[in-house]
Amino acid sequence: MSSAHTHAIDPLRDLKLIEDQVDLCVAQANAFFETKFTPPSCNFRQKGRAAGTAHLQKNEVRFNPFMYQQDPASFIETVVPHEVAHIIIFQIYGSKVKPHGKEWQAMMMKVYGLKPDRTHQFDTPLPKESYEYHCSCECYQFSKQRHNRAQKGVEYICKICKTTLQYIKTNKNS
Ligand SMILES: [Zn+2]
Ligand SMILES: [Zn+2]
Repeated sequence: MSSAHTHAIDPLRDLKLIEDQVDLCVAQANAFFETKFTPPSCNFRQKGRAAGTAHLQKNEVRFNPFMYQQDPASFIETVVPHEVAHIIIFQIYGSKVKPHGKEWQAMMMKVYGLKPDRTHQFDTPLPKESYEYHCSCECYQFSKQRHNRAQKGVEYICKICKTTLQYIKTNKNS
């Protein structure tokens, strides 16, 4: 069974829940604007740090299963309307307006009764690898980019003990 904080995704069942919410959000927009918008297709292909993305030209919304599983109910309540609002605003204005501009914000508040937050509250995945460095007082995790710079000779110095950080080992996070 699922624990309090995660639940295993059943792709068909969970995608259906998301599709139902997408349909509901489009229906609410139809009622509000007294028109008929084209519902976007949706899938679980979003990866990385975004909870979802709206692909306006393709009329497609991608959702992040890693974040969905952390809290399906709040994901459905917040992320789905956020992305659908991008799709609707594009169908009304094309690319003449900013993605999180006043039109999108007004839609979030008036149509969905939500705070127009640009960002989500979900945990983001750990990078696959991090690089551990030590000074004489602390332990630091470097990103691959930073590690590469250090290996090319860029010196990173601890603000507290003023010693140069030394590479110790690579950590795999999976
Ligand atoms: Zn957005
Ligand atoms: Zn130090």
